Amino acid sequence: VFQLSVPLNFLGSVYRELRQSLLDMQTLFDLQKVNVAVKERGNPKPLQLTRGGEIRFENVTFGYHPERPILRNLSLTIPAGRKVAIVGPSGCGKSTILRLLFRFYDVQAGRILIDDQDIRDVSLESLRKSIGVVPQDTPLFNNTIEHNIRYGNIEATREQVKKAAERAKVDEIIESLPAGYDTMVGERGMMISGGEKQRLAVSRLILKDPPLLFFDEATSALDTYTEQSLLQNINSILKEKARTSVFVAHRLRTILDSDEIIVLRDGSVTEAGTHAQLIEGGGVYSELWTAQEASLDEADNTAREVPT
Ligand code: ATP
Repeated sequence: VFQLSVPLNFLGSVYRELRQSLLDMQTLFDLQKVNVAVKERGNPKPLQLTRGGEIRFENVTFGYHPERPILRNLSLTIPAGRKVAIVGPSGCGKSTILRLLFRFYDVQAGRILIDDQDIRDVSLESLRKSIGVVPQDTPLFNNTIEHNIRYGNIEATREQVKKAAERAKVDEIIESLPAGYDTMVGERGMMISGGEKQRLAVSRLILKDPPLLFFDEATSALDTYTEQSLLQNINSILKEKARTSVFVAHRLRTILDSDEIIVLRDGSVTEAGTHAQLIEGGGVYSELWTAQEASLDEADNTAREVPT
C-alpha cells in the first residue's frame, strides 16, 4: 500500500502543478493572443523575491517592429511594496511595459530587473507566477462564476472564492442570481457587464495573491462610487500584504494616492512624482489634471441643469 500510495500522491501533485501552469499559460495567451517568441535559458533559476519585489527598467528600448521603437531608453523603478501609477496618452506604451515584464517579448536594448535579477535569467514559470494582472479585457470561460474566479487558484475552497468576490465588490450581484455562484457565464452562458467582468477579474487576482500586481485600466467600466469602494478594498489588501503594484489609468482621480506617478511620453519618462509634486511642477500631468477636472465640473453642471 505504501509503495503504491506514494507515487500516486506524487503524481497527484505533479498533475495539479501541471494543470495550474497550463491554466497560467492559457491566461497569458488569452491575455494578448500572441505567440510567445522568447526563449528560456538552459537550467534557469527560479525568480527569488529577496527584496520584496522591486521592479526596475534600465535604459529599455523596445518596438514590436524594431524600426518603430515604442519605448526609448526607458528607465524607471517601482520600489518594493509601493503603489505606482503609469499615465500617458493612448498608445504611448503602457500595456507594452506589462507585456515586457511578463516576457512576452524581450527588450532590444537595456534590461528589466526584479529584485536585481534580469528577467531573462529566471525561469518563465517563476516569473509569470509572481505577477498577477487585471488586464483591459478579461477572458471569461464558458463555465460557472465560481470556476471563473477559482481560476486564480484552483485549490481554493468555495469559502475563499466567496471571500475574494466580497472584497472585489461583486458578491451581492452574484448572490442575487437564481443560481448564484453556479451561474454559467461566457459566450454560452449569461452575458455579464464590463464592470462585472472587471470585478470577477479582480476576484481572480485576489485569490491568486501574487507578490507583484498590475492593474491595466482595471476599473474603467465601473461607476465612480463602485470604483472608489473597490479601489479602497484593493488598497487595503496591498497595504496589508506590502505588495508592489502598478496601476495604468486614464482617469487621474483613481490614482491620486499613488506613492509615485510616472508620466510617459514618446516612449520615455517625462515626469515623475507624487500627485502634489506633479501639480506643483506645472507640467504635462498638471495640464491633464486641470483638463479632466474641468470636464468633470462641466458634467456636474450639465447634470444639475437637467430638469427633474
Ligand atoms: P492605451 O492607453 O490605449 O491602452 P498603451 O499606452 O497601453 O495604450 P500599448 O498597448 O502599449 O499602448 O501600445 C503601444 C504602441 O504599440 C501602439 O502604437 C500600438 O499600436 C503598438 N502595438 C501594440 N501591440 C502591438 C503588436 N502586437 N504589434 C505591433 N504593434 C503593437
